Amino acid sequence: MRDFLRSVNRIVVKIGTSSLIHPNGKINFAGIDQLAFVLTDLRNQGKEIILVSSGAIGVGMDKLGIPERPQEIPVQQAVAAVGQSELMHIYNQRFLVYSQQTAQVLLTRDVVDFPESRKNVINTLEQLISMGIVPIINENDTVAVDEMDHTRKFGDNDELSAIVAQLMEADVLIMLSDIDGFYSDNPATNKQAILYSTISTINQTLMNQAGGEGSRFGTGGMVSKLKAAQRILEAKSAMVLANGKPPRIIFDILAGVDVGTLFKEEKHG
Ligand code: ADP
Repeated sequence: MRDFLRSVNRIVVKIGTSSLIHPNGKINFAGIDQLAFVLTDLRNQGKEIILVSSGAIGVGMDKLGIPERPQEIPVQQAVAAVGQSELMHIYNQRFLVYSQQTAQVLLTRDVVDFPESRKNVINTLEQLISMGIVPIINENDTVAVDEMDHTRKFGDNDELSAIVAQLMEADVLIMLSDIDGFYSDNPATNKQAILYSTISTINQTLMNQAGGEGSRFGTGGMVSKLKAAQRILEAKSAMVLANGKPPRIIFDILAGVDVGTLFKEEKHG
């Protein structure tokens, strides 16, 4: 079932805030260093890499000395604007240690709805990839606010990463979180929860098992990860949800090791 992972070429990696920021609010430089190392090595193997990174608000909170995630949307947007440039600065530094160039790409989820925007996004990303550059994508927090449910969804890149994977026809979306995969219940509250190795369809039972919000810095929790998986399954692609601490787990995933949860249609195994 996982053999195909050994030969994937185009890979979208999504990293969550909880893998980039320590629980005390400080930046996890070891994690970011290792992510840069792993992704550059994959580039050097000839694979095409797109990184979708959360963390702008977390990095901004650290930079500005704000201990709790602000509630007001304009404050979140201001903190994200501060954090985004700092986060890119850190990524640039770390990737350059391995002589790997990166580029910042800010998107909104509705790019798929407008053919012109859609085409421009694809063209830009294809061009960056062909130049050997790793695009680092985040949602454009200044313009992207979900009016209906903004406090939960703001800063959540789970669905955006699935949209990018779909647009760019990626072979796999690797979603790194602070948890080993998708469980039958929230392991933070239920120690009996069991890890799913493979999921081939998203149904209401799974949705019910994806309890509430996650960490202090993360936002989407498991519901948005299942929605991302749904999109990936509809596109007949694959997604692996795994623990991003440490990011070198990406090597195991691509070696076909049974880590995390694989979302893939059965008949395409
Ligand atoms: P990230 O910052 O990586 O996007 P989140 O903090 O938003 O991650 O979501 C991950 C959290 O979701 C986990 O730490 C866990 O507490 C919670 N969670 C809720 N339900 C589940 C489930 N069924 N399986 C795994 N994790 C779950």
